[in-house]
Amino acid sequence: MEGEPQHYRRADHGARILVVDDEPLARRSVRAMLERGFYQVETASGGEEALALLPTYQPELVLLDIQMPGMDGLEVCRRIRDLPQGELLPIIFLTGDERPDVHAQALRAKGDDFLRKPVMSGELIVRIRSLMRLKRLQAEVQAERDNLLDLQQQREQLFQFIVHDLKNPLSAIQVGLELLDGDEEGRPGSGHHLRRLRDTAQTMGRMIEDILDIGRAEQVGLDLRRTWIPLDTWLPRLVREVESQAQSRGHVLTWACPAGLELEADPAFLRRLLLNLVDNALKYSPAGSQTRIEARAQPGGVRLEVQDQGEGIPESMREQIFGKFVRLDEDGPDTRTGSGLGLAFCQLVAEAHGGRIWVEGNAPRGSVFVLEIPKTAATA
Ligand code: ADP
Repeated sequence: MEGEPQHYRRADHGARILVVDDEPLARRSVRAMLERGFYQVETASGGEEALALLPTYQPELVLLDIQMPGMDGLEVCRRIRDLPQGELLPIIFLTGDERPDVHAQALRAKGDDFLRKPVMSGELIVRIRSLMRLKRLQAEVQAERDNLLDLQQQREQLFQFIVHDLKNPLSAIQVGLELLDGDEEGRPGSGHHLRRLRDTAQTMGRMIEDILDIGRAEQVGLDLRRTWIPLDTWLPRLVREVESQAQSRGHVLTWACPAGLELEADPAFLRRLLLNLVDNALKYSPAGSQTRIEARAQPGGVRLEVQDQGEGIPESMREQIFGKFVRLDEDGPDTRTGSGLGLAFCQLVAEAHGGRIWVEGNAPRGSVFVLEIPKTAATA
């Protein structure tokens, strides 16, 4: 194998070939041809021995003599095809049998190719090479097909989630509108309905944006537009955006950020990440609880926390909930509608910034979502 110049190195160079033949002379001569063709060779003198060798040697191609005492080559081939990975293993029959129907028998036994003995070195190598290439392409096509099926399944799942999860807030909006309709005279209470309508519409909007962004990010990655964000003025503005939503649910929203703290990040994505976390904190905590956003500097970056006093997340689920479509309580009431995509989106954004996000338990109850982002523009 050493004699082959580097630039001639083929895809099948060094491939493992199993030669099965009961005649020692035939085994020796085929081995010599194959080794000159830069293959690795193992031999077996019969069917049983060949089958026993398969799991350990894991050949990438089998050369199989048809007439052998005991189990003949046709039977060996049939048995290989019945093995879990045997369907794709390339098998070439070799035979000195001159009867015309041998070829048909070999194909019926699901062999891939057929060569008559005495075998010519050039022909043997060419057949092996083209068969291996064919099998490689077949495996690639199959992998591609599996991938596509997977994608299609994910898309269908996504579609179902979209339809299901947008239905709930939409009916909440419809109910709100009906209530408002009866409130045309501006009786007290209509402001409350309006606020709820606006909050629900905002939640829907965020869900739609998350779904679209995750889809896009999986194809081409997130397109970040980083700028320096003065967190000490930016954070209170963000809190004001969700204050009425918090109040209407009976929550108290507080924040803390040291003066002058800055972070280089995409403000639109960071805003949506934090809004997702706050939305969850409000959704999964009882009325009357506190949600707090805290920013602070740490070596090399900034740490942002969203702390709540809600129901918390069991330790065993703290990694999983960042996966797509993962929800702890599938059958929650309408107000807790969700897609299970919010945290997946948050993780995408954190990682696109070269940072990370995780969740810890809060004391005495609730969760703390922690986002760490490097201060400088080191991209993921
Ligand atoms: P969803 O749209 O369902 O809220 P997320 O990806 O944002 O999707 O969250 C995934 C799941 O994690 C939620 O369904 C919920 O079960 C759980 N979760 C998220 N945030 C919190 C939180 N602050 N407190 C408790 N559970 C939470």
